[in-house]
Amino acid sequence: MTMHKCIQCKRVMTGRSDKKFCDDGCRNSYHNRRYGRKTMSIKQVNSILRKNRRILQVFIPGKEVIQVPKRSLESKGFDFRFFTGMEQKGKKTLMYCYDVGYTIAEDGLCEMARNMTFK
Ligand SMILES: [Zn+2]
Repeated sequence: MTMHKCIQCKRVMTGRSDKKFCDDGCRNSYHNRRYGRKTMSIKQVNSILRKNRRILQVFIPGKEVIQVPKRSLESKGFDFRFFTGMEQKGKKTLMYCYDVGYTIAEDGLCEMARNMTFK
């Protein structure tokens, strides 16, 4: 019989030597710790994206390109980690949230437009 330890809780396990964890709880804790917090569900991600789009829409009344300080978006709860697309146009990196496109300039100004009308 072989004796080895669970790589999460270090308890001694008996049985097959290729077993790494004593149970599913230890397996989950190990993977959560190693690969970051619990992965977000599609539903959670979608709700963040929809919220981001709602915030962008508040700032874009018409079709023109407008500039808004990044912190104004953040103060409304905009989460810059989530977007639906990304495109490099010259020196600008365009981020998309569905139909709204925006760039983040170094001075903290976001330039944004509806329907991807950036040039
Ligand atoms: Zn364990």
